[in-house]
Amino acid sequence: MPRGLLIVVSGPSGVGKNTIISNLFTCLSDLKYSVSATTREPRPNEIDGQNYFFLTEAEFTKRIADNAFLEWAKVYQHYYGTPRSYVEKMLSNGVDLALDIDVQGAAQIKKALPEAILIFLSPPSLCELKQRLIGRKTELESEIELRLQYIETEFQAVPLYDYFIINREIDLTCRQIECIIQAERIKVSRQETNFLAKILRAE
Ligand code: 5GP
Repeated sequence: MPRGLLIVVSGPSGVGKNTIISNLFTCLSDLKYSVSATTREPRPNEIDGQNYFFLTEAEFTKRIADNAFLEWAKVYQHYYGTPRSYVEKMLSNGVDLALDIDVQGAAQIKKALPEAILIFLSPPSLCELKQRLIGRKTELESEIELRLQYIETEFQAVPLYDYFIINREIDLTCRQIECIIQAERIKVSRQETNFLAKILRAE
């Protein structure tokens, strides 16, 4: 069985990653999401185990020591990490998996798993991004500032990525990501090597 695809989605805070990833599940029903661990405080609507695994710094540090993360990074003063065992289990069971992680984490993933597909989402403009961040009212002004300061670092990492999408319209962005995933699934390199046997076996 071919291994599942590992799809990494990154982009500045407020670009719309959460909305896009949740929309993707409606058109790609067999796609799964890897829930990250974090030390940041949960937002009012967030559920432990569903949005994130919310950990204390001590718990997070212990997991780093136990090599329990496939990648981890400090982003906007908090720790974030991808649980290794879930990703490995899903990929070896042939399940396609989406990760929403920052550029530091994406670089670590690309090094460990070069076959991962890295997608960078950009806002149409800085001005629009600021408006989105202010409008969603989930961060204090100081936190918004921190997130905006990180943008330059994020854009410097774009050459590492396989795809760059400007998120002008959610439906269009989702269709573009869906096309990437569909195309990656039918790559020769990802299929079993005996193509004739595959056709002869078919009814
Ligand atoms: P937020 O606090 O807005 O949920 O996420 C802040 C940033 O952390 C986002 O850029 C998000 O992509 C990133 N992030 C979320 N989970 C992970 C993770 O497991 N690893 C890394 N490296 N970044 C993550």
